[in-house]
Amino acid sequence: MTVLTSIMWFRRDLRVRANDALAAAARGGSVLPLFVVDPVLIASSGGPRLAFLRDSLADLDRSLGGALVVRVGDPSVVVPSAAREAGASTVFVARDFTPYGRRRDRAVSDALAATGSVLRGIGSPYTVPPGGVLKPDGKPYAVFTPYWRTWRRLASENRAAAASAPADVGVPECVTTRGDEFTWPERSFTALDLPVAGEAAAWDRWEWFVEHGLGTYGAARNTPSIDGTSRLSTYLRWGVLHPSQLIDECDGSPAAEEFVRELCWREFYADVLHQRPESAWKNLDGRFDRMQVDTDNAARERFALWQQGHTGFPIVDAGMRQLAATGWMHNRVRMIVASFLVKDLHLPWQWGARHFMDHLVDGDLASNNHGWQWAAGCGTDAAPYHRILNPTLQAERFDPSGAYAQQWIEEWPLTGPPMVDHAVERAEALRRRAALSVA
Ligand SMILES: Cc1cc2nc3c(=O)[nH]c(=O)nc-3n(C[C@H](O)[C@H](O)[C@H](O)COP(=O)(O)OP(=O)(O)OC[C@H]3O[C@@H](n4cnc5c(N)ncnc54)[C@H](O)[C@@H]3O)c2cc1C
Repeated sequence: MTVLTSIMWFRRDLRVRANDALAAAARGGSVLPLFVVDPVLIASSGGPRLAFLRDSLADLDRSLGGALVVRVGDPSVVVPSAAREAGASTVFVARDFTPYGRRRDRAVSDALAATGSVLRGIGSPYTVPPGGVLKPDGKPYAVFTPYWRTWRRLASENRAAAASAPADVGVPECVTTRGDEFTWPERSFTALDLPVAGEAAAWDRWEWFVEHGLGTYGAARNTPSIDGTSRLSTYLRWGVLHPSQLIDECDGSPAAEEFVRELCWREFYADVLHQRPESAWKNLDGRFDRMQVDTDNAARERFALWQQGHTGFPIVDAGMRQLAATGWMHNRVRMIVASFLVKDLHLPWQWGARHFMDHLVDGDLASNNHGWQWAAGCGTDAAPYHRILNPTLQAERFDPSGAYAQQWIEEWPLTGPPMVDHAVERAEALRRRAALSVA
């Protein structure tokens, strides 16, 4: 009897549990599990993200009994050649919705078609795939709250449908071939204390959060000195966990719903990027293209002080140092440091977004760049450029004891004057905004 082999090409779904594409591949016979190290993506990935990827691949390989094949090169060459070698007519993937991912998958699909094979997209890193949440008139949502209402209903329907579908198949029967020895870039050998890779570690963290954080999530999620959020963003980024697995674990309590709402932000931003791929690095609101931003040498110097956490504002400096030390920053502080870069230093949001992508272990193009655009006032938020976070008042409100600042700033307490006067820069930001003469 001939055993059919198909390929499971892993990308942002580095798990064996609840992996629809893997389950579909396994239903057809044996599976050759493949990961392609794509030089284009490696070049744009910071060290912490690469380090986590390397460890996640090692964990996935262990889960697959050592069968994971790692090949290096252009996927439109590597994937068809792996398919030819394995005699596989189908390559299964979870669909990728990023601008680069879509282009790459079209090229791979065309190259496979030329050899008589197909690329089959099943599932995605989202509960409701981008493009799946539409207004009654069939158009996409531009703001979050109505998106959230429709998304929540669709997410429940999807989960109910999944519950009646065949169960998770677990680890499939794998075949393997020779992989490549890939030399990971120097920057990925980081001394940072990153989250432990792998599905077991991700579930350990979830269980810890259910026991110690979920019930108080609403109250605690804005206090950066306490471990009050899930810290699952890195696992979600690489699909070590799927958000639907977490939603299935939530019990509908108000605190759990608040958590699900945050998961929805991740999907909303992926949806916006899907609708408007150019918004990855360009203002979603094109009227802001005329905004006056500073890019001269003095601006570069201000940027360097921000990067190093030497602005003189404790909560900003603590955030930037938390990022440098751990590859992660608390959400409230991400908002504060982003607002500061754009509205107190008058720098392009893209500079900050790039720095975050280089340093964040959870760096995700959609969440990061649209998080930045939200802070810069040129993104999805109807709100206002006029919302300018005051770093001193934010610290009084969200870090009143200074515990967070003390945790990250060695030379605490800060004695020198801050690098700018917030009141002056706020007025300057508003002047620049008014000059746009946008309603
Ligand atoms: C300027 C800026 C840049 C950001 N860059 C990223 C990024 O590169 N990658 C990233 O995953 N998140 C990003 N975020 C969102 C958010 O800060 C992180 O998801 C969150 O801090 C991760 O910690 P957590 O897992 O403990 O979150 P929790 O509070 O436990 O939230 C649960 C999950 O919901 C999602 N989530 C929560 N808040 C947001 C949000 N505002 N936008 C999108 N998803 C959200 C994340 O997947 C998160 O893991 C950014 C936010 C801002 C303001």
